[in-house]
Amino acid sequence: MIDGLEKSIDRLIEGVKTKIYGNTFRCPVCHLELSMHDVNGKGLVVCPLCGIVIEVTTVFGHILAVVHDVEIKRHQPKMRLHPLSTHIPLGLFPFSFLLSLLLLLASFIFPFIDNQCFLGSFYHYLSALANISQFMLITSVVFLLPAFFTGLYDWYFRYEKRRYRTIDIKIVCSLIFLVLALIAFFLQNAGLVFSAETGLIATTFENIVVAAIYFLLMFVSLIILATIGHLGGLLVFGK
Ligand SMILES: [Zn+2]
Repeated sequence: MIDGLEKSIDRLIEGVKTKIYGNTFRCPVCHLELSMHDVNGKGLVVCPLCGIVIEVTTVFGHILAVVHDVEIKRHQPKMRLHPLSTHIPLGLFPFSFLLSLLLLLASFIFPFIDNQCFLGSFYHYLSALANISQFMLITSVVFLLPAFFTGLYDWYFRYEKRRYRTIDIKIVCSLIFLVLALIAFFLQNAGLVFSAETGLIATTFENIVVAAIYFLLMFVSLIILATIGHLGGLLVFGK
């Protein structure tokens, strides 16, 4: 069953990737997968990972990538600020989501358990957990900004503003993440998701609907953040 699920997810990812990337080929040197959208009007592309200049032609429908040269004057920043700055949002956001999921689980369990039992003794910590989740959420949003701008700086100097489909996706995904995560934060900050007193989701219809929207926003944001991180990893390690 897990194998079947994995294959379905792989097929889904491949389908989305084909739609966004179109035809792809691999760099003959480092094997990084590149898109035909990355090739300029003269049929040339510089591999963002290894700096090889590749000429791309199509022979009988097959993409042929030929190594021409190596980019020698490549900007090599001493302080790699972008990979460093990505660790805070990538590290904190999943924990914010995890704590929110714990509070969701607690909202199902705690109304039915005795406050005097062992599990009930944790009741007083739930509002603090909601605050920590909210703090991690806004911290990851705020620290995505330096990650975003140092990424743009790298693209400007290291990649000389060349258009790569991977970098376009990273920029668009970062902006979408900022919007979705900020909406999730404002919902949580307004006390519409978790009650300020108990830390649990209130059982009114409005609160349940807002909580459902909040968890959907958090889930989609997590997928987007994982995609940004994964693509960034490809630009560093290739595979
Ligand atoms: Zn390469």
